[in-house]
Amino acid sequence: MVPCNFSCTVDWEVHSQAFKQLSRFQRIGTSKLIHNLSNTNRQNKLLYGQSDLCPGCGENEETFEHVLQCSHAPTALVRTAALSGLEQSLIAIATPKKVSEVILGGFRDWLDQIFKRIVALAHLHLVQFVLMIC
Ligand SMILES: [Zn+2]
Repeated sequence: MVPCNFSCTVDWEVHSQAFKQLSRFQRIGTSKLIHNLSNTNRQNKLLYGQSDLCPGCGENEETFEHVLQCSHAPTALVRTAALSGLEQSLIAIATPKKVSEVILGGFRDWLDQIFKRIVALAHLHLVQFVLMIC
């Protein structure tokens, strides 16, 4: 086990075994996710000069984190449906209930932590702004 940047450890042997079971297409997508290289409008702006705005809310830069947190109702519905789909897939492959709870709970906690960091950062910027005008 090797410590990662997120106060957890990664079992690289298990990671390697799981990764090798993916198709070539799945490996490419998974690698992009792991290395934060998923295509977003942030990249499209950098590479092609297109708008970096989120196509859902149209108000924020579309980064991978924003995709996971966008509050635009249709986007949030897709995210909720994806979590339900994951839950159904875990049931379909007879994943033990405790394991499913850990996977789904971990995913929900992870999304919540991203949201809290974004809120904390927004508060920090607000405090800095207030200090500047005082
Ligand atoms: Zn958005």
